[in-house]
Amino acid sequence: MSGERAMPAVDEDGEINGWVILCPACQCGHKFENDANDSVNGWGFNGNKALPTFTAPMLIEGDDEHHRCHFTIDAGRITFLEDCSHPFRGMTLDLPVFGAKTDGH
Ligand SMILES: [Zn+2]
Repeated sequence: MSGERAMPAVDEDGEINGWVILCPACQCGHKFENDANDSVNGWGFNGNKALPTFTAPMLIEGDDEHHRCHFTIDAGRITFLEDCSHPFRGMTLDLPVFGAKTDGH
């Protein structure tokens, strides 16, 4: 393992359809959908799994309307925007490395 902070997500056919990062605020993965046919949801990715950069911010709104996670990813660091509902808002952190923890999936 070489400290990857972005993992490919695959569909039923094994095609990569997005990239997942671990969110230290939500303690779960968030997925950048990577559909080349969709100019709205197509994210620019620099291809660096160790130090990923995505060209557009991600907004996650949970089933609970009060849960809001809004962030950007730049060179392996995650910056939470001020409108997040969690205490990490306004902070910049290193993205967790996949496989660093033995629990979860
Ligand atoms: Zn989150």
